[in-house]
Amino acid sequence: MTYDAIVLGAGINGCGIARELAERGQRVLVLDKGAIGGGTSSKSSRLIHGGLRYLETRQFGMVREALSDRLELLGRYPELVSMRPFYLPIYRKSPRPVWRLWTGIKLYDALAGRHNIYRSRKVSRKRFAREFPALKREGIRAVLRYYDGKTNDLALTKRVAEDAQELGCVFREGIDVQHIAWDETGFAVSVGDKKYLSHILINATGPWIDEVIARYQFPSQFQIRKVSGIHIFIDELLTPHPMFLQTQGKRVFFIIPEPERGQTIIGTTEREERGRVDDVVIQEEDIDYLIRAINAYLTPNRQLQRADITDAIVGVRPLVEQKGDATALSREYELDLHTRGQTQLLNIFGGKLTTYLSLSRRVAKTLGIKEITSMALRA
Ligand SMILES: Cc1cc2nc3c(=O)[nH]c(=O)nc-3n(C[C@H](O)[C@H](O)[C@H](O)COP(=O)(O)OP(=O)(O)OC[C@H]3O[C@@H](n4cnc5c(N)ncnc54)[C@H](O)[C@@H]3O)c2cc1C
Repeated sequence: MTYDAIVLGAGINGCGIARELAERGQRVLVLDKGAIGGGTSSKSSRLIHGGLRYLETRQFGMVREALSDRLELLGRYPELVSMRPFYLPIYRKSPRPVWRLWTGIKLYDALAGRHNIYRSRKVSRKRFAREFPALKREGIRAVLRYYDGKTNDLALTKRVAEDAQELGCVFREGIDVQHIAWDETGFAVSVGDKKYLSHILINATGPWIDEVIARYQFPSQFQIRKVSGIHIFIDELLTPHPMFLQTQGKRVFFIIPEPERGQTIIGTTEREERGRVDDVVIQEEDIDYLIRAINAYLTPNRQLQRADITDAIVGVRPLVEQKGDATALSREYELDLHTRGQTQLLNIFGGKLTTYLSLSRRVAKTLGIKEITSMALRA
């Protein structure tokens, strides 16, 4: 069977790319070793955000792009992506001063563009204490409120896959690609006794990308740093709205209530992983770390115990690194193109849930696949 493009990996990026290429008239096949959205795209903090914390490292372009994607996603999937107020209480021992956080969220508002109707503001301590009884009130210096997007990551990924299918993309799940032959005339992807042919192969396997590159002996200019993060769940609504909190060590974490499921998600952690992605497991010390971090903010009668945790999940962030240079790049994703004769291999390194739209468009541009104009349609 011959396709215009074959995508390896049905996470948010693989599904988004497939959809974008199909909209541009391409016949696309997506192959995943597991299920649609079963990788990192169902282990995230479920935020559609620019990432307030990236302002500290001055990654303004990246934040602006993500906020522009946020705006588009709000319009495209209003039933799956919505804006929520995030509360940021600043206590006396806060590792960052009030003025700095206030400047940060005002800049965040500005980067969202002039159409942004969601403006951050200060909230009175009295009102905060009334609305958030589980949180300590002693030592609060100020409370800030800003807005960001919230989604269900797995539902969003599945929805993008459905959109791609409606445009003619073919998805195959639970697939073990045994061999990929590549020469100047095409790729031949072998799955059991079937062979899929294409001129374009897109490797969108998220944190597995280095393992896939090694297995099929693909060239690459980049590699990834694997940083796992866990989320813990409790079966009650701890707070009425999401919260952005800081640890003494300057790390940030979120409390995200999900009223539709009667649960609260708390996360996340960061742990450098050296082994295979499939071998990454939840470490008890990461659960303990999150319980300690949140208990530092909860009143004595609302302290969480290990027994309150009903579930925990772990995901692996694929952070981009230039080969031979151990520092992660400030760019959030890199498109790594290799051309041989008529064929193109494109490795996708990095890429958040939020930015899959702009990433997918850049993929199409990099491959030279143009949008179908109304003139072309008439012809
Ligand atoms: C803890 C944590 C919190 C996060 N929070 C947020 C957030 O709030 N907002 C946000 O925007 N981003 C967030 N992210 C980042 C975001 O979740 C990921 O960057 C994004 O989901 C990556 O998508 P992907 O499609 O590239 O990879 P994945 O979703 O991992 O998809 C890769 C797919 O490739 C498949 N695959 C692997 N090997 C093969 C193979 N050999 N053959 C075929 N298929 C293969 C896998 O089965 C998988 O389905 C978070 C990440 C983590 C870890």
